[in-house]
Amino acid sequence: MKDAAPQETIHLSEYTPFGFLIDAVHLTFDLSPNATRVKSRIDFRPNPDATDSTFFLHGEKLTLIEARIDGTPVTPDITDTGLTCTVPDAPFTWEAEVEIDPANNTALEGLYMSGGMYCTQCEAEGFRKITYYPDRPDVMATFTVRINSNMPVLLSNGNPAGEGDGWAEWHDPWPKPAYLFALVAGHLVNHPDHFTTASGREVTLNIWVREGDAHKCAFGMEALKRSMTWDEEVYGREYDLDVFNIVAVDDFNMGAMENKGLNIFNSAAVLASPETATDGNFERIEAIIAHEYFHNWTGNRITCRDWFQLCLKEGLTVFRDAQFTADMRSAPVKRIGDVIDLRARQFPEDQGPLSHPVRPDRYQEINNFYTATVYEKGAEVISMLKRLVGDDAYKNALDLYFDRHDGQACTIEDWLQVFEDATERDLTQFKRWYTQSGTPHLTVAEDWADGTYTLTFTQSTPPDANQSDKLPQVLPIAVGLLSPNGDETVPTTLLEMTEATQSFTFDGLSSRPVPSILRDFSAPVVLDRESSASEQAFLLAHDTDPFTRWDAGRNLARDTLIAMVTEGAAPQGAYLDGLAAVLRDTSLDPAYRALILALPSASELAQALDARGTVPDPDAIHDAQETLRQTLAEKLQDALPGLYAAHQVDGPYSPDAASAGHRSLANAVLSLITRLDSGAQAQTQFDGADNMTQQLAAFGCLLQAKRGEDAIAAFYDQWQADRLVIDKWFSMQVIFAAPDAAASTAAALTRHPDFDVKNPNRFRATLGGLAMNHAGFHRADGSGYALLADWLITLDDLNPQTTARMCAAFQTWARYDEGRKAHARAQMERILAKPDLSRDTSEMITRILK
Ligand code: ZN
Repeated sequence: MKDAAPQETIHLSEYTPFGFLIDAVHLTFDLSPNATRVKSRIDFRPNPDATDSTFFLHGEKLTLIEARIDGTPVTPDITDTGLTCTVPDAPFTWEAEVEIDPANNTALEGLYMSGGMYCTQCEAEGFRKITYYPDRPDVMATFTVRINSNMPVLLSNGNPAGEGDGWAEWHDPWPKPAYLFALVAGHLVNHPDHFTTASGREVTLNIWVREGDAHKCAFGMEALKRSMTWDEEVYGREYDLDVFNIVAVDDFNMGAMENKGLNIFNSAAVLASPETATDGNFERIEAIIAHEYFHNWTGNRITCRDWFQLCLKEGLTVFRDAQFTADMRSAPVKRIGDVIDLRARQFPEDQGPLSHPVRPDRYQEINNFYTATVYEKGAEVISMLKRLVGDDAYKNALDLYFDRHDGQACTIEDWLQVFEDATERDLTQFKRWYTQSGTPHLTVAEDWADGTYTLTFTQSTPPDANQSDKLPQVLPIAVGLLSPNGDETVPTTLLEMTEATQSFTFDGLSSRPVPSILRDFSAPVVLDRESSASEQAFLLAHDTDPFTRWDAGRNLARDTLIAMVTEGAAPQGAYLDGLAAVLRDTSLDPAYRALILALPSASELAQALDARGTVPDPDAIHDAQETLRQTLAEKLQDALPGLYAAHQVDGPYSPDAASAGHRSLANAVLSLITRLDSGAQAQTQFDGADNMTQQLAAFGCLLQAKRGEDAIAAFYDQWQADRLVIDKWFSMQVIFAAPDAAASTAAALTRHPDFDVKNPNRFRATLGGLAMNHAGFHRADGSGYALLADWLITLDDLNPQTTARMCAAFQTWARYDEGRKAHARAQMERILAKPDLSRDTSEMITRILK
């Protein structure tokens, strides 16, 4: 048993610079599965800006073979977390040799093995599992790396600096923090290409994969080249090395990692072929490739001073990849998808026990702060900033940022200062978006008299576990006004709200307008506006802003479902009619119509009920959704076959946005048809599909219609050799299981020979799938909670990071009834009681239980 001492909390306010600067790092790896030797030679000199000159190097799970200073052997003091040593008060050279065991590294942090290949993951604090080092992002150095191994492909950061039989050397000329270090060695094949930058640099591009995956690289490579061009055109940023390598690995905790010149990807985030990847996968791959590539400037050339500043690189890079996707595809569809995602993942975080600011000010385990708040709300904050200052000023500020801070490790203060200097705006109040947790709620009162229309907004952010006092924030509220005949009388206007309550007037109007508020979702707030179904239906029919138009439909659907759950009401006519009109409107993008057809998720409804003071009943929510879908299918009965036929895409599969939009509408329609023909059409589509989008959508319909048995067997037979497709096979069965069968289905799948607890993708497909089945996970008998807890307890010994992330499934536990709460609490207490529980999991469960 570990000691039960309380875990250490790290505070932003306690930042101090490291006592030494590093000129150069030389590493030599002698690779061996159980006994890799790592030799380091590091040139240190005292840091004139530091007050503390303690020589502390991080190091975990390392066996020190020997250490020398200026060639003389030394005996450092070693603990579980690192070493200290007496050093000269002048420049010196540190040399160390350590031994590590990559084959037994199941945490997938540091140097580990995946399917016979060596690879690394160092963000945030993995480098300390490779050698002794000041493993903090504000220590930047150039790296030269020699790899000795008989693996045929040996890669590290930067440019190749020589190779021979059994060795290769790499040199990265750009100073970087250790978290951007990477090494790969394996039997890999490459998909090569090249790119010429705007100023004429020739860059070799490669995607490295296992032999059998070579046919799944083409799309990722095209996405990479599009990203490189886009960053030159839109941000004026060029690539800065001779090679850019991407490697796909099967065992990876996250989506991908932006290591300098050597991005490492979860294979699910880069490999795609029409037969094996869905339209959604293609879009996500394009976005992740762009995201990691864009980090080369926002993250690598300019990095973070400390991990509290994580949003400096992540919020900005998510914002940039969203701009890229909007440019490559449909901007409204991307925006709506992002808002759905924000409400589904970030709002529960911000409104629950895990609430933290975009820039947290304390943590125990930084891995627990790679959150939707840091990433997605962090991107929203930048979107607001751009909206407030305008496009030109945003561009000037970014130019200044790259100019002023290239090569530095920065803070949010540096970032905001650049905007203040470029725009002469005072951003003191705006900064609260970075320091205050919680989602602001916005209420609206209207007044109409003598041609003058007044909107009075009130903002408030409820107190939370993180902070009790909340101050008013700067809210950019984009508003348009429509006249009762549906014309737009006031086009989109940006209102800048800074007070707790503030009024804005519009005069010279001939009739009382209908307001369209929060266009393009101009601020990440909850708009608490009581408005009638007829007004929502009016906006659904006439709003010129695609986001608020969609949101009006969403509100109608939500209100209908809530009335069905709480009052046993019948589905609302205004919603059904509005929807039918949108579906018939062929002037609208099919992808957009598909989005309007989708219902709010069960967890979104639970959240809405909770906000209204009603304890959500997952079974009642499930039933209401089923009833509404059945009603929709019956109501639209006559239109469905025509719509389905009209949106079939002929010819060879292409993942472009237009084709994907047709498929997404046709498949939304197929799911309604399935409610009328018990799956006959879906079976036909399943049997005849020549691409994964069509096959998987039909598979889902068959599972939903409870006639999936044959399809389950056929799908497995067809795809058993493809790991990524089999992940889908695992997750679909759990996600589409009836509430009373979800836990037993997931449990049975964990006994399938292809289940692998050590593979995060497979684990997430199965147990994460359970958490996505709302009524199945929140089963009244507690069986869903118990199964997840069993597996989190098992996984914690192997992979704390993935375990801790999945604990978030419990974050909404307190909204449910006493019986469910008692079950959830008991399971979380059982997790906490596990001997040697990781710091990651312990911090998460403790916060959730508070
Ligand atoms: Zn990122």
